[in-house]
Amino acid sequence: MQTKQDQLALIAQQILNCRKCPLHKTRKNPVPGEGNPQAKIMFIGEAPGYWEDVKGKPFVGAAGKFLDTLIAILNLSRKDVFITNVLKCRPPKNREPSPNEVQQCTPYLDKQIKIIQPKFIITLGNYSTGYILSKAGLPFNGITQAHGKFYETTILDLHVTVFPTFHPAAGLYSGRYKKLLQQDFQLLKKEISKP
Ligand code: URA
Repeated sequence: MQTKQDQLALIAQQILNCRKCPLHKTRKNPVPGEGNPQAKIMFIGEAPGYWEDVKGKPFVGAAGKFLDTLIAILNLSRKDVFITNVLKCRPPKNREPSPNEVQQCTPYLDKQIKIIQPKFIITLGNYSTGYILSKAGLPFNGITQAHGKFYETTILDLHVTVFPTFHPAAGLYSGRYKKLLQQDFQLLKKEISKP
């Protein structure tokens, strides 16, 4: 029986060899995601940006530094959680993911979710929230309405709690979003500490 770590490494290898959409031509490195294979909490962002593409790791730029401070609110660090994105390769100039890219790439995310079997999926921003809530068959009317709520649901035959919040990059340019993100993480802290 393969360990979760082995199974995740296999997905990372498949992503490295992936040619299903045009993004493999312009990427420097794919960013499969990283963290604890046994994580109870999984974070899903949108797509790698400049620094993620350079380093092959998720959320290592300015938004990532802010995400670290939010994870610290939970009394956790990166090694306790798993962090990934909807897209595993950087769209040129950080443009929005295309529907084709999302369609081709999300089977990797789905496999990661099935392997890790997190209790909580924290979606960061509109993209990942829209994707995950639609998978759960739940309506989505934008992150402003969806954030800060706990959606106990089933996706991929897995019972999970989905908790949408804003993308950490939003907290970098707006004090209002920064505060809302911090408040959402305080709510999350209470919820994850329930037995
Ligand atoms: N923004 C994202 O959505 N993901 C990253 O990994 C970095 C920035």
